[in-house]
Formats: sequence, structure tokens, C-alpha cells
Amino acid sequence: MERKKWACGHCGLPRGIGKGNAWHNNGVITAKQPPHIRGTLYDVEELNNLFPAISRRIDFDITRLVIEGKRKDGVRYTRSLIENLRRAGKDPSPLDVFHMITHFCAYWGLGIAEVLEYREGEILSIKTPDYYSDPMARGDWAGVFEAADGRRGDPRWRDEEARDIIDVVAVEGEPVLEERIEQEVELGIPFVEEGDLEYRYCPECGVPMAVSEQFEWNPEISLIRERISGRRFILHNTNGIVAVVRVLEEELGEEVGGIIAEISRDYARGYYGEIKDRTSLEAELLKFPLRSWGRTATMKKEDGGYRVRIVNPYSPPVIAGRLWGLREVFGEREFRLAGMEKGQGYVDVRLS
Ligand SMILES: [Zn+2]
Repeated sequence: MERKKWACGHCGLPRGIGKGNAWHNNGVITAKQPPHIRGTLYDVEELNNLFPAISRRIDFDITRLVIEGKRKDGVRYTRSLIENLRRAGKDPSPLDVFHMITHFCAYWGLGIAEVLEYREGEILSIKTPDYYSDPMARGDWAGVFEAADGRRGDPRWRDEEARDIIDVVAVEGEPVLEERIEQEVELGIPFVEEGDLEYRYCPECGVPMAVSEQFEWNPEISLIRERISGRRFILHNTNGIVAVVRVLEEELGEEVGGIIAEISRDYARGYYGEIKDRTSLEAELLKFPLRSWGRTATMKKEDGGYRVRIVNPYSPPVIAGRLWGLREVFGEREFRLAGMEKGQGYVDVRLS
């Protein structure tokens, strides 16, 4: 096979991935540069199922919240990028920053993006026909615009039918909702340091070999595809999505956590049902930390079911639902979610 110039000579992943990110032995992926923002390998179909399903279940459209969460996340990420560049003695223009982000979009599987137009303090237009998620891509670009330009931006599709060009138009902000989401994003996701995972790291790029074994990863077409399922994945910041979930829980009550877990469980049942014959429960659990979903510390039998501790879950209800569906598919029986107890850096999931 022809070797691409962006590819690691040993494992074939894009070299930029190992250069920019670290896989820790506690089940977490972070950026290598400060402030070491946590990243997650997301199943795109799961994400795009989750938010509309929540809206349906609670009878309230959460699209706006998703955009806001991602916008704050994008601001935080882009500001830290600009700071790191300045520390290295560079002074990037907003346009430099936008081009850099389009490059990252290709590497993270977010979709090929192209800067069509930028007018300072007015508008940024991005062409991105194969974006990973409608509300999240719009939130991302609004955040990037805000951090680089200094003005708040409202992200709109130029053509609601085609949905291939995002115009971020400078506007005045809406302080109340923003403040809430901002605080949540700033909180970040707590994670504990200790971990005993052992990876076989690629000797050339430093990424665990299991990542290239599990994913086909091609930045030329902005594709991260899971080999076993054929599904599209992305590598993206963890905070924005988690902030949205936390705001929902606060606004609408703890039961939202249970609803999210049920949605994730339904998705997981379909997903694992499809790949069941080519994998095992143990193999699937080992994939969690590689994706920064967290690490299964213990799985004990209890009350005719199981008690499972996940350390460093990226989102407790989403990961609880995944585990619930996974356990059902491989146990060939149904369980009830009897409890989801959150502690500092872990969640205990009880299935009965
Ligand atoms: Zn490598």
C-alpha cells in the first residue's frame, strides 16, 4: 500500500494525532498542550441520536442548548490554541486561526471544512458539506469565530435545504444562558489520576496500537471509521457535550440522567447486536478507555445483577447506558437500571 505523507510509518494513523494527544493509563485522552483539554472518540450516530431523542422524551427542543454548549467549548479551545501560539512567539491573525481549525476538522473526522469568507467583526462563512452534527458543528464555528474575532457570532445555515455553508454572523449576546453554560464548561470533567491500564504504544507516533487496529483514519477525506461496525467516529472535546447534559439535569431534574441512560442503552443494544458475533464483552469493555469513555474498574455480581464501577466516565449517564445495553446483549437477558451513583471521578452502575 502506498504510504501517505501524513501517516505514521509504523501504525498508519495520522502523525498529528499522536503529536497532539496523549492516551493516559486512567482511561482518558487529553491534548498534549496546556490546558490539556480532554477529548473523546465519539460514535457520531450515537451523538446524533442522543440529542433529538432527549428533545422528544422531555418534549422540549434542546438544540439551542447543544449549540450553546459547543460554542463555549469552541471558545475555550480556540483561546487556548491562540495562547499556545503566542507563547511560541507567533501572532496568528483570525484567518490563520480559521485555517488551522479547518485542518483540525479534517484530522478529527469532523468533516472537510473550507473558509469561504471572513470580514472582521461581521461574518465568517465556512463550507462544510459533510459535517458530523448540525447543532454541534454550528456551535463549534460560532465559538471559533468568537475567540478569534472577539465578537459573538450567530451560526446559521445559508441555505436550510442544502445545509453546506455556515454563516457565523456577528450579534449581541444573550448573557443569562451563556453564563450558565460557561460556568459548566469551565468546570470541566473531573478525573482521577491513578490508572493501571497498559497499552502497547506505537513506537513511532506514541498512540496505542489498538487505535489503529480499531479505526481506519484518513484526514484527506476527514474520515474516522470504526472497522468492526463501519460507523463514523470523531475525536472531539469532551466538555461541551457534558456541559449540556449537566445543564439539562439542573434545569429539568435528576431524572434526565435516567432518560439519557435509557436512550444510550437502546442505542447500545442495536449497536452491539450488530457486531456481537465478531467480538466479546471483554473486548468491548477494553475499548472504553481507548475512546476516553472511562475504564471499568470492577464488575461484581450483586442481587441477581451487576454492580459496575466506571472510573473517569466522560458522561456518567451516557456511559451507564452503553454499559447497560452491552451487558444485556452479551448476557442475553434484560436488566433494570437500579442505580447510578456518581462519585469524584467515577460512577457506580447497578443493574438488576
Ligand atoms: Zn504510529
